[in-house]
Amino acid sequence: MKTPTLTLVAAAMLLASVGCAPKPTAPRVYEYRGGRWFNGQTFESRDAYVANGMFVAKPSAPPDSTIELNGKFVVPPFAEGHNHWLEPAAVQTYIQSYLRDGIFYVQDQGNPPAIHARFDSLLNRPTSVDFISANQGWSGPGGHPVQIVRQFVAFGIFPPTWGDAGFDRNVVMVVRDSADIAERWPLFMAGKPAFVKVFLLYSEEYDKRRNDSSYQYHRGMNPALVPEIVRRAHAAGLKVSAHIYTAADFRNAVNGGVDLIAHFPGTGYDEKLGLAAFKITEADAIASAQHHVRVMTTLGWLREDEYAKQRDVLIRDVIRPNLALLRQHGVPILIGSDQFRQTSAPEAQDLVKMGLFTPAEMLVAWAVTTPQSIFPLRHIGELRPGYEASFLALDGDPIADFGNTSRIGLRVKQGVVLRIKEPVPAFPPLGK
Ligand SMILES: [Zn+2]
Repeated sequence: MKTPTLTLVAAAMLLASVGCAPKPTAPRVYEYRGGRWFNGQTFESRDAYVANGMFVAKPSAPPDSTIELNGKFVVPPFAEGHNHWLEPAAVQTYIQSYLRDGIFYVQDQGNPPAIHARFDSLLNRPTSVDFISANQGWSGPGGHPVQIVRQFVAFGIFPPTWGDAGFDRNVVMVVRDSADIAERWPLFMAGKPAFVKVFLLYSEEYDKRRNDSSYQYHRGMNPALVPEIVRRAHAAGLKVSAHIYTAADFRNAVNGGVDLIAHFPGTGYDEKLGLAAFKITEADAIASAQHHVRVMTTLGWLREDEYAKQRDVLIRDVIRPNLALLRQHGVPILIGSDQFRQTSAPEAQDLVKMGLFTPAEMLVAWAVTTPQSIFPLRHIGELRPGYEASFLALDGDPIADFGNTSRIGLRVKQGVVLRIKEPVPAFPPLGK
């Protein structure tokens, strides 16, 4: 039987008469021609196609427009796994400097909800940075990071009341026992945290330090409380990240069930404790692998003058052996800097210069593993159909010379070609 042929006009009238919307027009297809695309190991010369902000397979019809990449080296965008965006008045500087450095994904490891609420509407969109926050971190009385809260009060950035008792609940959840956790948990959840941050510092000396004012800020929460916070977090579908310094902190965090270690063991080095206190064991590395824990670098402090004398010994006897153990057991290493007013770009460059990462290892950690760890449900960090069309086109091969990661010729985020406002506005002076 022959089906009757409908003219277009008749079809449109029919659609209109039954109240259907007309079929949407096909999406515009963009061709990126002549690039060399990172496949997780090496660069392949090919063309790529983008429609509706996603990579798509080569379409059968000709593309709507073509962008010539002239042999540029295309990589997924970079990530910052550990920073704190605490200055609403400077948020454009943060956004533009991160986009300039090719860093599209930020995991804020502690930020008062009332602070980031002032700029949330500017984030998580194709032309800006994608940002998640742990909100109020969990610490103990007299613990880190209350001294930083007080600095920000002195700068006039945080309200004066947060310098006294107001830091508790607004900035940090200060807990001594499980009753304190239970009492603060509903308020914490009301702020819609993306994950949970707990603070462990020198936790092998928790009992010694807890009531000694000479250790004010050089302590964190009671490590025995970690499992209770992890239980509540996991029940709410949230991962837990732990601030750690010593090997004992690392062990308490892993055994307590956390998902992420937010500092590399050896950070917070204190010569009174000695090098051995900062060296993890093979059993620690095995436990991390078994519990699927990831470990973040935050090693930019090694640049600081106060560590100049011990730097080589620290790298040789603590950082390098810890890194070797974690790698040997397949623990993913993520890139985060925890450097105020900086991006993770200096961190990534320094770790390559120090010989702790090869350029290829750093490229995978910075552009694949870290973004995928921050946003595990998104299709990011790979440059193939079905993934978000977000990428950087570099003017040189970053595996041959990692410095080429700063020679960014084109930035595309979710299909949108970004225009960076250069120069990036300067940070305002700190303090009043
Ligand atoms: Zn931090």
